[in-house]
Amino acid sequence: MRRPAVFIDRDGTISEEVGYVNHLSRYRVFPFAAEAVRLLNEAGWLAVLITNQAGVARGYFKEELIGEVHAFLAAELGRGGARLDAVYYCPHHPTAGEPPYRLDCDCRKPRPGLIRRAAAELNLDLEGSWMVGDRYGDVELAHNAGLRSALVLTGYGRGELEHQSHLWPRRPDLVAENLLEAVRGILKEGARCQVPGKDLSPPAPDTFFDE
Ligand SMILES: [Mg+2]
Ligand SMILES: [Zn+2]
Repeated sequence: MRRPAVFIDRDGTISEEVGYVNHLSRYRVFPFAAEAVRLLNEAGWLAVLITNQAGVARGYFKEELIGEVHAFLAAELGRGGARLDAVYYCPHHPTAGEPPYRLDCDCRKPRPGLIRRAAAELNLDLEGSWMVGDRYGDVELAHNAGLRSALVLTGYGRGELEHQSHLWPRRPDLVAENLLEAVRGILKEGARCQVPGKDLSPPAPDTFFDE
């Protein structure tokens, strides 16, 4: 059976936005991250990390550092009883650096390559799945891949919402204070969809973006 996933952006969403994480010492996981991912684990949703890491193409750090950072993230989540089901990243950039990393790839967000790969490898129900991120590009990605989207106000989120959202051609389905609140909203929404005849009322206007 196909399962729904919550795709989670990395920098600014599950961990602090600090610019390029060019050394493990710069990487800081949000304190609420483990609880958020654990809620997904317990509810039977897949939790999948999706991140652009063009610092590799730009020559700011080696691709191996991404593995180190994700091992650290997995350990931090594990201490909170949580696990990611998969991690996908794009190390490319269309114009910076040298091949093979200088590449006009299909996996750099907001292009849907990573989501498509995950859907095939993990047998996902994309229609029931969500993307959670702190940038408008994550909302675009969700649209391009046929997912619903949640914008979190951590990282770039609050600023982008305040200063740029009037220019956005698309709206997130949900705006949440952080990843934990986003997951709570998504699971509540999922429960609404899966119980026929139960409460199908629209979500509370203060949590959903309805402009
Ligand atoms: Mg981000
Ligand atoms: Zn790529």
